[in-house]
Amino acid sequence: MGFFDFFTQKIGIDLGTSNTLVYVSNKGITVNEPSVVAINTGSNEVCAVGENAKAMLDRTPKTINAVRPLQNGVIADFEITRVMIKYFIDKALNKKRFIKANIVICMPVGVTSIEKKAVEDVAYDSGARKVKLVEEPMAAAIGAGLPVDQPLGNMIIDIGGGTTEIAIISLGGIVESDSLRIAGDDMDMDIREYIKLKYKMDIGLVTAEKIKMTLGNASKEYYDKKHRARNKPQDTQEDGSSDDFDYVQVMEIRGRDIVSGLPLKITVTSDEIREAIAETVNNITNAIKRVFERTPPELSSDIYTNGIYLTGGGALLKGLDIYIEKETGLKVFIAENPLQSVALGAGKICEEM
Ligand code: ADP
Ligand code: MG
Repeated sequence: MGFFDFFTQKIGIDLGTSNTLVYVSNKGITVNEPSVVAINTGSNEVCAVGENAKAMLDRTPKTINAVRPLQNGVIADFEITRVMIKYFIDKALNKKRFIKANIVICMPVGVTSIEKKAVEDVAYDSGARKVKLVEEPMAAAIGAGLPVDQPLGNMIIDIGGGTTEIAIISLGGIVESDSLRIAGDDMDMDIREYIKLKYKMDIGLVTAEKIKMTLGNASKEYYDKKHRARNKPQDTQEDGSSDDFDYVQVMEIRGRDIVSGLPLKITVTSDEIREAIAETVNNITNAIKRVFERTPPELSSDIYTNGIYLTGGGALLKGLDIYIEKETGLKVFIAENPLQSVALGAGKICEEM
C-alpha cells in the first residue's frame, strides 16, 4: 500500500430516483437514504437532505418545499442534485476532507451527457480523485451475482421509483436495453387516482406508497401460493419470523373527502389495488417483452434457460414475478436484496478500481 492509498477511500454510489445508497470499501453500505432535498422557498436554502427531508414530503408548510431532484430519471435541478450528492459523499467519508476517494457512480442508461458531466463534476468537487460512471443495469446485474463477463445472455430488470431499466448483458457489456420513465412512482399515482375516482377521497403520495407496499400486488396467485405454503406444517420463515405482513389483504385508510373536505375513513382490498396498478404493471411487462424480442437468438436462448432477474424496490411488489412469468413464458427470479443490488454492484466495481 502506497502513501497515497492510505488517504484514498473507494466508494460506490447508487444514485437512485427514490433512494441513494453508498458503499464504502471494507465497510459495505453505510448510507441508505431517500433521494430527497427540502428547501426553504423564501431563502432558497437547503434545510434537510435524505431521511429528514423525506419526512417533510407531503406535509411541508408553504415555506418549505421537499423535492426529489432525480424523480423522472433526469436531473430536474442541477444545483439541488449537487447539494444532495455532496451531502451523501460527505456522510460516507465522515467529512474527513483530506481523504480523497475513488468513486463509482451508477446512473440510468438514459441520462444525457450533460447530466453525466454534471454528476462527475460534483464528485470531483466533493473530493474524488477518480470518478467512474457505470450504467445502472450493469451494476444491478453484478450486485445480483449474475455472470456478466461470460459469453452468456443475462437479462436484468431494475424497477426503481422513477425509472425501469431493462437490459440484456453479455461479455461485460449491455447488448440491448430500454430505460422507461414508468416505475414505482407511477403505481403510487395510480393508487391515488383510483381512490379519488372510486371513493372521492384525497390521499397523499406517501400514503399511496404505503398502500402499495402493504396491499399492492400484480397477481392474485401470490396469495393463493402463500396460503398453500402456510397450510404446510412449517409456518414460519427460515429465520424464525412469520410473514403476516404478506397476508394483509385489507387496509383502513384515512384521507379527505374531496367534496366536503371532511376527514374520511375507508377500507381498501388487495384486489382493488391490483386493479389500480394493473396498467402500469402491464406497461412494464410489455417493455420487457419488446427488449426480449430484439435480443439476438443465441442470447435469447440463454435467457430461456436461465430466466430473468428482477431488482430495485419494484421487484418487491407482491406477485410481480408470477405475473411476468405468465406473460412472457420466461422464468423470473427476484434478486436477493433487490433494494441493494445496484449499490452492491457499484461496491464490487469500486473495489476493483
Ligand atoms: P431507485 O433506484 O429509483 O431509487 P429503488 O430501487 O430504491 O428506486 O426502489 C424504490 C421504489 O420501490 C419505490 O417506488 C418504492 O415504493 C418501491 N418499493 C419499495 N418496497 C416495495 C414493496 N414492498 N412493494 C412494492 N414496491 C416497493
Ligand atoms: Mg435504482
